[in-house]
Amino acid sequence: NAIELGLNFDNSFAKQLGGFYVACEGDGAPAPELVKLNTALAKRIGLTNEDPVQLAQVLSGSASPLGALPLAQVYAGHQFGGFTPQLGDGRALLLGEVLDTEGQRLDLQLKGSGPTPFSRGGDGKAVMGAVLREYILSEAMHALNIPTTRALAVVATGESVRRDMLQPGAVLTRIASSHLRVGSFQFFAARGEQDKVKQLADYAIARHYPELAQSEHPYLNFLRAVRNNQASLIAKWLLVGFVHGVMNTDNMTISGETIDYGPCAFIDYYDADSVFSSIDREGRYAYSNQAAIGQWNLARLAETLLPLIDESQSVAIELATQAVTEFWDVFKHHWVNGMRAKLGLSTEEVGDQALGEQLLDAMAGENVDFTNLFRQLASDLAHQRNDSQKLFNNADKFNVWRGLWLARITQDPLTIEQSVILMNSVNPLYIARNHQVEQAIEAAQRHGDYQPFERLVKVLATPYTAQEGAEDYAKPAPASFGPFVSYCGT
Ligand code: AMP
Ligand code: MG
Ligand code: MG
Repeated sequence: NAIELGLNFDNSFAKQLGGFYVACEGDGAPAPELVKLNTALAKRIGLTNEDPVQLAQVLSGSASPLGALPLAQVYAGHQFGGFTPQLGDGRALLLGEVLDTEGQRLDLQLKGSGPTPFSRGGDGKAVMGAVLREYILSEAMHALNIPTTRALAVVATGESVRRDMLQPGAVLTRIASSHLRVGSFQFFAARGEQDKVKQLADYAIARHYPELAQSEHPYLNFLRAVRNNQASLIAKWLLVGFVHGVMNTDNMTISGETIDYGPCAFIDYYDADSVFSSIDREGRYAYSNQAAIGQWNLARLAETLLPLIDESQSVAIELATQAVTEFWDVFKHHWVNGMRAKLGLSTEEVGDQALGEQLLDAMAGENVDFTNLFRQLASDLAHQRNDSQKLFNNADKFNVWRGLWLARITQDPLTIEQSVILMNSVNPLYIARNHQVEQAIEAAQRHGDYQPFERLVKVLATPYTAQEGAEDYAKPAPASFGPFVSYCGT
């Protein structure tokens, strides 16, 4: 009674990595209803079944798709710095891997389909609010050209799920280039199962970095490749004002994709110390801490790979330490390049990093909308105005900075028109603003009205282009919204 979806399943993880997972099934939902299908993504992965009843069955974990081998992956992780030797998919079910229409291998995973052997005390369920949030945020990140898991579908389960209150249950279907994490390696390393670490590393290299397999130092190069992708990813987060919120090592992918949209949020006004997660009381995962945490997480991956990097432990430590130390340079390189584009600059000058940092410094404590300032800078540049200063309480620092920037712009080979085009192609007009996300969730959850959700998803799909009637989506939260707090594990 498996249902044909038309997907080209090829389950390499299930086939090659026995001992790295437990086969299991979804709970089955009492009244599954498909409330959202990402039709463009569905098409890309080759999903041809359009029957909403069958899709709701499969994408709630109530029926199996033909060709799938559902399983829960095991992993460990440092959560807020403390090591938990066994976590694993406690509310996620990997249906399998599909080869998309371009032959790319993608994980198809349900989130919230019921308990697995790794659920510990949890119920394995997800609630509609959190599912819609992940849908909105992950698709918004994709539209911002930031590597991320994607959202394929939302199914309402028809079940009430107990949190602080009863909430409507839902299942998210997400797509990832894989769900391998730093924590996947930590699980086996912590148990002293070095052969399993090697097996996993070989699998990860073959799947994500095949060109490294034949290199002289494949595992060191693997560490460097993960470093490069994570450093680039975090630079991108910072440049759009994204705070992931729970950068535990089990939430850091080997592919360099953003994963696990729990307590994450975009900043409205710029504040380096921004924290939204209710449980991050010490600001471990604050906006400006994210690169340092990325490096810390990479060090945890490096530790698991030491015996593979060199037979001599001291040589391995030296090589790995250097690779981890260089995280910072790689991150800075990406950050400065990204900031140059945000500021309309095409060439590299030694002062560019300082120029970018000086702008942030000018924004600090000024209640400046981070997103809107960069758009306003472009608009001002185009019209030879300085309306940007109106976004500041006190624009003194900003105006000093502006003089330096205009001097730098003048000597850049790009024309003013070209700089403006460059800026507007990398600085979004629309981000997933917390008050808009909350409104969309509220309407769906309270009143079964998915229109605000649909509208928000649509606006965020083309974030660089002004859309008619979408002015409100480009505005910061009204003061009445108050400071935003997000909750994990909801
Ligand atoms: P997260 O913070 O969402 O990445 O989750 C951390 C760990 O807790 C993972 O192993 C999850 O599978 C598990 N977990 C989170 N929520 C639940 C839940 N409702 N039921 C069972 N396990 C959960
Ligand atoms: Mg997680
Ligand atoms: Mg110029």
